[in-house]
Amino acid sequence: MSTPEKVNCLIIGSGPAGYTAAIYAARADLKPMMYMGPEPGGQLTTTTEVENYPGFPHGVQGPEMMELFKKQAERFATDIRYGWATKVDFSGPVHKVWVDDGKVEIHANTVIIATGASAKWLGLESEQKYRSIGGVSACAVCDGFFYRGKDVAIVGAGDTAAEEATYLAKLCNKVYMIVRREEMRASKAMQHRVLNTPNIEVLWNTDTKEVLGDDKGVNAVIVTNSKTGEDRKLDVYGFFVAIGHKPNTDVFKDWLEMDEAGYIKTIPGTSKTNIEGVFAVGDAQDKVYRQAVTAAGSGCMGALDAERYLASKGIH
Ligand code: NDP
Repeated sequence: MSTPEKVNCLIIGSGPAGYTAAIYAARADLKPMMYMGPEPGGQLTTTTEVENYPGFPHGVQGPEMMELFKKQAERFATDIRYGWATKVDFSGPVHKVWVDDGKVEIHANTVIIATGASAKWLGLESEQKYRSIGGVSACAVCDGFFYRGKDVAIVGAGDTAAEEATYLAKLCNKVYMIVRREEMRASKAMQHRVLNTPNIEVLWNTDTKEVLGDDKGVNAVIVTNSKTGEDRKLDVYGFFVAIGHKPNTDVFKDWLEMDEAGYIKTIPGTSKTNIEGVFAVGDAQDKVYRQAVTAAGSGCMGALDAERYLASKGIH
């Protein structure tokens, strides 16, 4: 066991929320330490063009944007480290966080949780098998390019699935959209776009049974109509899963109040959790907006709330 390191402000996670918290906390002289987590840079590192982040009139690549966030946090001397929180103890006034299974122990006066969310999977064995071989993806914008001119399938019926189906339809020959009920959850405008795109075929009341392929990757998917019980083989080379996300908050579940999906509850209009000195920002606490710019905004709130908390306790 190493000697615990003491910090005023520990930031867990390195997406737009984490880096913005770091920039604000560092400029307020809180000398923040950041652990980047298992996916440094967060979800934006698996996207391509980001066109809706203000300040980039011509768009920017997701990974490049996250490099810029990192550089800005480093410019103000944030102590940025590889590793992720594997255990926490929020029982005392000083918050204890263990990193990488106890290799490092941090004692922090404030903790800003910016651990984001991860894509959900169907849970089929064949889905996971071809995730590593190739052909299964949870990000059409990242991987759609590989299936130009080919047939693909996408599962889901929310705004993400609808948006990704129309995105894929521009690149691919044909897109099967696998919808488990007889209606979509997506907004009416997005549904309209899907239903008016000629090369998208919506398969209603349909479940995915199995993903098929060989050592080169996916080459078909078997789906079942839940009303008729009939199976159908779709000859597709790409299988996209767009069934929502799960917040990366499991490690905090014994300490923080969360909703049934695991999103950390914060006092409305603040980043404060039920534990004094522990703040939650970005997608770990936001299931509604989930945008880079809203995550960054809430990261700023986290740093300001941490700064005020430390000032109120007379901690410098
Ligand atoms: P959602 O939770 O909204 O939708 C998930 C979809 O996946 C649902 O249609 C659900 O079906 C389906 N699903 C879940 N589990 C399975 C399963 N095991 N098998 C088959 N289908 C399954 O997630 P999204 O990622 O689409 O959206 C999340 C939030 O982000 C929403 O609030 C959305 O509005 C927002 N968003 C907004 C965008 C925009 O405004 N441009 C773009 C993208 C997202 P069922 O309906 O039957 O439950």
